Amino acid sequence: GLLSRMRGGLQKTRRVLNTDIRDLFKSEGSLVDDALLEQLFARLVRTDMGGGPAAKIRDEIAKQYRGRVVQLDEILQTIADQTRQMLEQEHTDIQTADQPPTVILVVGVNGSGKTTSIGKLANHFHQSGKKVVLGAGDTFRAAAVEQLVIWSQRIGCDIVTGKPQADPASVAYQTVQQAIETNADIAIIDTAGRLQTQSNLMQELQKIRTVIGKKLEAAPHEVLLVLDATAGQNAISQAKGFSEAAGCTGIVLAKLDGSAKGGVVLPIREQFGLPVKFVGLGEGIDDLVKFDPAAFAEGLFS
Ligand code: GDP
Repeated sequence: GLLSRMRGGLQKTRRVLNTDIRDLFKSEGSLVDDALLEQLFARLVRTDMGGGPAAKIRDEIAKQYRGRVVQLDEILQTIADQTRQMLEQEHTDIQTADQPPTVILVVGVNGSGKTTSIGKLANHFHQSGKKVVLGAGDTFRAAAVEQLVIWSQRIGCDIVTGKPQADPASVAYQTVQQAIETNADIAIIDTAGRLQTQSNLMQELQKIRTVIGKKLEAAPHEVLLVLDATAGQNAISQAKGFSEAAGCTGIVLAKLDGSAKGGVVLPIREQFGLPVKFVGLGEGIDDLVKFDPAAFAEGLFS
């Protein structure tokens, strides 16, 4: 099920956390005192969950257990509960159109895992019986278009491609048009991710939004930002400006399996003010799962 997939995907973080936190506890249990609480705090911070969340967990553990001898399992359960509570959010579901097609724009810096995530996302919807159309809007990267064509063939869904260097907005427009004409449920549109020409890129995204909105009222219904979970804090800050300019509505956190710092989900949510909607747990077509706070927290700590 979902929990075992999360556990699998979070293996690297779990390995680090398990030794780190397990080391703090003797088999007969350990006294929860200030020294232990500070150690625990430092080790939680190493998962990249951020000082705020780590302090909140430490304080809760202090409140419940200070001065008592406690077993590791009890502490882990409390950490998992606190993590889940911090991540509980209302809008992890994809917002759908009142009447199909739902249009999803996908943005992200090159290399973040955008193309792969689009393929997996298309497969996710296709598997649940939805008719999907892909739009290869990253027209400046021939490789991205080729990759997306391959994904569409594997999945068995339609794809709209433009000529090389074609206007991305025209590809987006044609994708929405094809989705309407073929009674598709969902259109997923790729966009360019060249960060070096940021202001042009922002204008381009704005134009895509305008053009889509003219073709179909209320579209795009979602603008998903793909982030690389293995990227450092710096890359994440860069993506922040990007996310604001593009009017993002949710996050796909790719490569969570490749990170030993899976706790990063917490600060990402805080920094972007956006819900994490999907997480990437591998390179395969099925390796994208809907983000579930409970499964994530359990997968990380139990
Ligand atoms: P783009 O440049 O943003 O379109 O990035 P790609 O989709 O081409 O992905 C870059 C690399 O990351 C590729 O080698 C992908 O296979 C890999 N990748 C993408 N998502 C994941 C993931 O969730 N887990 C792992 N392990 N690798 C991923």
